[in-house]
Amino acid sequence: METLIRPWRRGDFPAVRRILWESWVAAYQPFIPAEDLRAYFAATYNLDALARLYDNPRVHGFIAEADGEAVGFGRTQFHLNENRLYLASLYLLPSFQGKGIGGDLLRAAEENARAYGLGELWVGVMVKNEAAGRWYARRGFRFIREEPFRMGRTTVVHVIGSKAVVAAGEADLRQRLTAVYPREGDAPPLAAAAAALLQRQKGEWPGLADGYTALEAVRSREVRGGSWAVQVQFNPRRSVSSGARLDPESIRSRPCFLCRGNLPAPQRAILYRETYLILCNPVPVFPGHLTVAHLCHLPQSLADHREMFLRLAADFGPGLVLLYNGPRCGASAPDHLHFQAVPAGLLPAERELRNAAGGAEVKRYGTAVIGVAGGIGRGAVVVEGTAAADTAAALGEVIAALGRTAAPDTEPMMNVLATHSGDGWRLMIFPRLKHRPDAYFREDEGKLCVSPGAVEMGGVFVTHREQDFQVLDAALIGEIYREVAFDDAAVKVLVASL
Ligand SMILES: [Zn+2]
Repeated sequence: METLIRPWRRGDFPAVRRILWESWVAAYQPFIPAEDLRAYFAATYNLDALARLYDNPRVHGFIAEADGEAVGFGRTQFHLNENRLYLASLYLLPSFQGKGIGGDLLRAAEENARAYGLGELWVGVMVKNEAAGRWYARRGFRFIREEPFRMGRTTVVHVIGSKAVVAAGEADLRQRLTAVYPREGDAPPLAAAAAALLQRQKGEWPGLADGYTALEAVRSREVRGGSWAVQVQFNPRRSVSSGARLDPESIRSRPCFLCRGNLPAPQRAILYRETYLILCNPVPVFPGHLTVAHLCHLPQSLADHREMFLRLAADFGPGLVLLYNGPRCGASAPDHLHFQAVPAGLLPAERELRNAAGGAEVKRYGTAVIGVAGGIGRGAVVVEGTAAADTAAALGEVIAALGRTAAPDTEPMMNVLATHSGDGWRLMIFPRLKHRPDAYFREDEGKLCVSPGAVEMGGVFVTHREQDFQVLDAALIGEIYREVAFDDAAVKVLVASL
């Protein structure tokens, strides 16, 4: 019998239901009435419920196949408030139990915990399911707490426990570091440490050196559209990003390129506040293009990580602009929390928005001011503040207001540019309507390979195809902005609703 473990797919839902039901009947019927089992199963594992689990970026499903047939299902779920990964399901068809397949599924879950940078995997087991309790205990789980768990009208007792999983790559991580920030004493500022990292990496990492050689050959031209100017950049190597497949299926089936176990061997990093790695982007759009990746494989979300985002912008100082791409509008790794940083002054919106006539709607949160900026073909909310807490609160208000118009459980679509002058923050938030314009998906000569993110909202259009570089003019760019971003009027309505 040939077995393998793979990430689940939408097409697996019927098999998952069969595996759950048959293994439940075998394991739970001795102590849970069939009608309660049926009711709980129907409510919790119908096709819609499975689709919601599948779409939840904090849920990971695994299928065990035996000779090409799905015979087992494992599922982990990350609980953000506890910072714990739970093994939420592990089930095998009864005739395939006792063959080591459950151990394979458990190892996949442990691997998942390591990918989050966690040292433990948690599980809850029904006390009366003694066989399962012994199975987990043999594999190193220690149970510490009892909790009631309801299935229909039956309440059963769960024991909650965990097992240590060796965090991968701690030694590997230390070897990669060129600096740790912050440092006591007269250590260089963060921007200088990043410049030193880049200089060093160009000499020791051929892939990065190639990326910078290619950047020198990149062609660009200016397109002027009334009140705005955009730089169009023909950058063939960016096909990895602007052509990336970002559907959940494709994301799940590729190794995450921001997880530290998957970084290229010569890549080095600055450890930032024990939480993020500052890395050189090997396919730069600008000289000095950095990626800032969280140490853990957490979903992309700004609302949950505002304070560190602001802190990072301040630590980088006025020479760098910090960029955020929402998970559904420009992030090439929506499953791994990350930011980018580029040198200040290269994105036209930095100065155009500064000059735009704002102030139509202004709200205050302590020392922070929320205003409207526009007149450049796409609308932006501008937040300015001198105190971190007020600025983070104002940013949170804007994200929450945007979220009232978005689907629940997903972050509202937006790109953010953040700068810090030395005195305070300036955030330019571009609310979005759409990730890619319809022309991106055309199959005829009207196709445009433009995938707008924070860089495009900032006024630099990157394309990896020469024909797009030739054809992008003021009319087309204006149309793309209207299609994918809020206009000035929509931003005013948004700010008025705060
Ligand atoms: Zn990752």
